Order: sequence, then structure tokens, then C-alpha cells
Amino acid sequence: MNVADSEVVGGILAGGGYTFTSDLAEADVILVNTCAIREMAEQRIYGRLGLFNRYKRLNPGMVIGVLGCMAERLRAKLVDQEKLVDIVVGPDEYRKLPALIDGAFEGEKGIAVRLSRVENYDDIAPLRADGVTAWVSVMRGCDKFCTFCVVPFTRGRERSRALESVTKEVADLAARGYRDVTLLGQNVNSYRDGVRDFADLMKSVAAVDRSVRVRFMTSHPQDMSDRLIETIATTGNICNSIHLPVQSASDRVLERMNRSYSIAHYLRQVEKIRRAIPGVSLTTDIISGFPGETLAEHEATVALMKEVRYDGAFTFKYSPRENTKAWEMEDDVPDEEKGRRVTEITEVQRGISLAINERMIGTIERVLVEAPSKKSVEAYSGRTETNKTVVFPRNGEHRGEYVDLRIDRVNSATLFGTRIREGNA
Ligand code: SAM
Ligand code: SF4
Repeated sequence: MNVADSEVVGGILAGGGYTFTSDLAEADVILVNTCAIREMAEQRIYGRLGLFNRYKRLNPGMVIGVLGCMAERLRAKLVDQEKLVDIVVGPDEYRKLPALIDGAFEGEKGIAVRLSRVENYDDIAPLRADGVTAWVSVMRGCDKFCTFCVVPFTRGRERSRALESVTKEVADLAARGYRDVTLLGQNVNSYRDGVRDFADLMKSVAAVDRSVRVRFMTSHPQDMSDRLIETIATTGNICNSIHLPVQSASDRVLERMNRSYSIAHYLRQVEKIRRAIPGVSLTTDIISGFPGETLAEHEATVALMKEVRYDGAFTFKYSPRENTKAWEMEDDVPDEEKGRRVTEITEVQRGISLAINERMIGTIERVLVEAPSKKSVEAYSGRTETNKTVVFPRNGEHRGEYVDLRIDRVNSATLFGTRIREGNA
């Protein structure tokens, strides 16, 4: 989501006449987009700001700015107390950036952190380098108020972009050669444009170009609709992979998290999805060590992982966030124990992912060629429809092309394949 936001900022700044450099020494303005979801993300920013200020000593006219979710919370500290930055701009005020930067060149400090009920940057064309995969933000904010989560406070209330505007953006991307588009929202099930819902949006976007794969995240388990499941099942280029964060397998913990579903409801959703979309890949998010989580409740989550057999899972240690309801609860699971629980869940998931991937050995997968492999220039990396990364030897393929690969070997995170050509299939 922050990548998508940075592209919106890029679009606004390009409109203001700015050009971009990846060389910090050459920059007159350095902006860093921030995340406040866990404390760790916040801490990292201070290291970055230290680095940027070393460049500023060489170029004292330089403007340094902090954007995004940390803005509201840390504005006074960053601008007034520690004098680390010149401007602080929250997620709904990016249109003010050109004016704030101009002011900062004149020595004015700039703070703009108000949240909006309507800003959705619908008319801004995000600035993207040409590529194959793109993130497209379709809504902003969140009204769910899970008790652990800072998003409703840092990104404000939920609001959706117009269906036509999102569809046009995807049409422009398709015309530029993009082949894989992920629609983004904190809770896409709440997407509304008048009477049109997320299933309508998905249908509209998928119809733009059937050679463009369409993905989405994130679905809230409470209100993933039957229509959406059916749309995924019946639309060829909507990918069969769903991220459905469960957070915990304990009803008591889920209630204290204000997740608004029971584990029985969650499992019914999983069953419905698997029945409607055979071969679907399911991934999830888990929080370990939420206030009051007992060992038995943690073990229930481990058992759920084994029961559902997710394709992948992101597991986080609970991190208390100011303003949230859970901030008031006693953070009573010691950090070491949170770490132990996270490790156990990660290990269990690794075993499940490996077993699922092993069953794919010998199968043929259609893969979109995305980029050179991180580990070898001799290889390409791409993804299957079910969002699994496949690495294969490079042999004249192009980014953005679909290739059929036979899966030869796997580990828990990656599949390795070879190209099937006529005659050797
Ligand atoms: N809107 C999505 C949803 O509800 O599933 C997720 C949004 S959040 C950016 C991504 C994940 O971060 C959450 O699913 C949760 O597991 C994790 N998370 C959020 N707040 C957290 C906190 N205070 N401590 C630890 N993990 C947290
Ligand atoms: Fe945060 Fe819950 Fe909204 Fe997801 S649904 S962004 S976890 S408040």
C-alpha cells in the first residue's frame, strides 16, 4: 500500500515539475514514506533520517520530508524537538506537497496531517516506471477498528474510488504492457461505488484485458461475499489466490481483537472458498502474543494452521500501538514468549508450504515472466496464478510473457522449473 501511495506522490510531484533521482547526493528533496503498523517499522525510520541528514550537511538547502502513517503521531518530535525533517505530510494531504516543498526551500517548516473523509486521489495518475506488475489502490482507510490496529487512526475512515476510474487506470496499465494487477484496500469487501461492490469492480477490471491477471488484497473474513467468491471462481483471469487473515484461532482472542467473526464462521468461509475454487491458494496473517493469549490459545492457532493448511502465512509478534483499544490492555505475554510462539507458527507453516509445493513437482504451471531472479542473472523469476514464485533458466524469454514450466524441484518458498517447448513436453 505504501508503494502505491509513493507512486501517487510521484504523480503529484511530477505534475509540480519535479524529476526523480535515485542518487541521494544529487537530490534537492528527499521524502520517506512511513508505516506505523508495528513499532519496529517506526524505529527503522530514525536510522534513515540520520542518513539523509548526513547528505543535508553536504547540501544545506536540501528539504527532507516524512510522509505517511507516522506523520500525525511523530510530527512534533520530528520537526520541532529533533529537527530531523523540514516537512511532515500525512496520507490524505499529498496534494499539498509541491507547495510545502516550495515553502521549505524558503526556510518554512511544513506540517499537513489532517485526515479526510473524501480524499481518494482518484484523478491523480500514479507515477510508475514501465513494468509487468502493478499495485492499484481502490480504497483508503478502514472502519473496522480491530483493537490492535493503528490503521483507522493513521489512515482515517474508509472511502472508495469510482469503479470507472479504477477500470481506466487498469486499462492504461494494460496498454503499457502490465500483465499483473493487484487491487488494494485494507478491507476490499467494504468497497462501494454507489450500488456497485467489490465483485462488480473485479468483473469490470478483469474484462479490461483477459491477458492481464487480476489479484486483490485484503479480504476481511467477516464479510467476504458469496458473489465475490463466485466471481473469482468464474472469471479466468482473476487469480485463484486469496489472502484471508485469521489473526488467531481462539474465539476469546478474536473477540478481544474485535475481529467480528468466530473461528467456526472463518472455517465455513474457507470451506466455501475451497469448494467453489478448486486448487485455490490460501494465505493468512497471524498475531502472536496478543494481550491475554494463553498457551492453549496459541496451540489452538498452531492446530488451525495444520487443519487449514495455508499456502503461506505472515506471523507477527503483537506490538502495542498508541490510540488503539488494545493499548489499554496489559501487554502480558513476555517478548521472548511472543518470539517463541512466532517461531513455532513459522516452522509449522514452513513444513506445510514445503509439503504443498512438493506435490507440485512434475506439474506444468503457466508463469508470467516478471524479472531476473534475485540470485542469478542466468535465471528469470515469475509467479503462477496461485501466487507462487517460480525460478527458471533464462533462454530468450521476455518480461511480461507467459511461459509454461514443468516444476522440477521446490523448497518451502520457491518452485524451480524448466520451460516446456514443443517436442519436450
Ligand atoms: N486490513 C488487513 C486485515 O484486516 O487483514 C490487514 C492490515 S495490516 C496492515 C496487516 C497485518 O498486520 C494484520 O493482518 C495483522 O496481522 C498485522 N498487525 C496489525 N497491527 C498489528 C500490531 N499492533 N501488532 C502486530 N501485528 C499487527
Ligand atoms: Fe486494521 Fe482491522 Fe482495518 Fe485490517 S480490518 S486495517 S487489521 S482495523
